[in-house]
Amino acid sequence: MTASARALTYFPAPRSQRYCSQCGNLLTRRIPDDDNRERDLCDHCGAIHYQNPRMVLGTIPVWEKQVLLCRRAIEPRHGYWTLPAGFMELGETTAQGAARETQEEAGARIEMGPLFAVLDIPHVDQVHIFYLARLTDVEFEPGPESLEARLFDEDEIPWDDLAFRSVSTALRLFFADRERGVFQIHSDTLLRGPEPVPAVSTPAP
Ligand SMILES: [Zn+2]
Repeated sequence: MTASARALTYFPAPRSQRYCSQCGNLLTRRIPDDDNRERDLCDHCGAIHYQNPRMVLGTIPVWEKQVLLCRRAIEPRHGYWTLPAGFMELGETTAQGAARETQEEAGARIEMGPLFAVLDIPHVDQVHIFYLARLTDVEFEPGPESLEARLFDEDEIPWDDLAFRSVSTALRLFFADRERGVFQIHSDTLLRGPEPVPAVSTPAP
């Protein structure tokens, strides 16, 4: 199996477990007492391995009229363009994670701005959160997860070559708000299928 095929096989990363990560014994999948859904239980040590949605954190880094995008060097969606974003790490805040991913993927220096969009994606058990950010210079050093990082004017955005629907959704909301001259906090749900459901937006305070 090639590295690429292996990566695709494991995306999204497997969520059910066969063995207990505490004691190594085989797990049983069933509804625990006083619960209402199936979990992976260890009958040997008693551990219940809860699974919860994962957070993906990113920024919309802006330099004057332009937005920074990265072209992915990893699966899934190798070669497609994305906003800098990635999985939240333990022990960090959502804003810290978004800033870290921007640094890691684009090698970009930014000033973090306010929360911009919270996108629920229940069919992949993820929540994608984007913050606004301002680039402090235009020297980029893409990390190993990016083939390149560059600035795009709105009319240059490669809409057909964006990696994820959360990225196209966040960019559309961003350009619409910029056109209106008012940035709001957006909360959308991306359902399985080609088009996002209409945005529900919270007026800026
Ligand atoms: Zn166990």
